[in-house]
Amino acid sequence: MSDCIFCMIKEGKIPSSTVYEDDKILVFNDVDPQAPVHMLMIPKKHISSLNETSEEDEALLGYMMNKVRDVAKLAGLDNGYRVVINCGEDGMQTVFHIHVHILGKRKMLWPPG
Ligand code: 5GP
Ligand code: ZN
Repeated sequence: MSDCIFCMIKEGKIPSSTVYEDDKILVFNDVDPQAPVHMLMIPKKHISSLNETSEEDEALLGYMMNKVRDVAKLAGLDNGYRVVINCGEDGMQTVFHIHVHILGKRKMLWPPG
């Protein structure tokens, strides 16, 4: 997707600070962090949102969830963390390339705003 900022980050066309990368996913720091640690995990495949996943994405989505722990450990989030996927307008999604927010190093609030 040529007009997708996260695809551009994936392709190195927009700079970002990479935390982790492999053949399936990229993890980088959020440009506007909402916690001392705020990372975004994206699949390299462009999927616009949780509303646009298909059966063929099940393994990839499972792979991402199973990688969260490893990325959290890399970032030193030994005391826990918050994982968020915003979806659609009411979910306050602003970038339409599916991404997992991983936030930590502060006590989170519940319920979220
Ligand atoms: P959403 O609101 O869609 O769930 O989250 C989008 C996130 O992407 C926001 O937290 C925002 O700060 C982050 N973001 C938007 N543009 C960029 C960018 O160019 N670089 C990085 N690193 N993060 C971005
Ligand atoms: Zn994209």
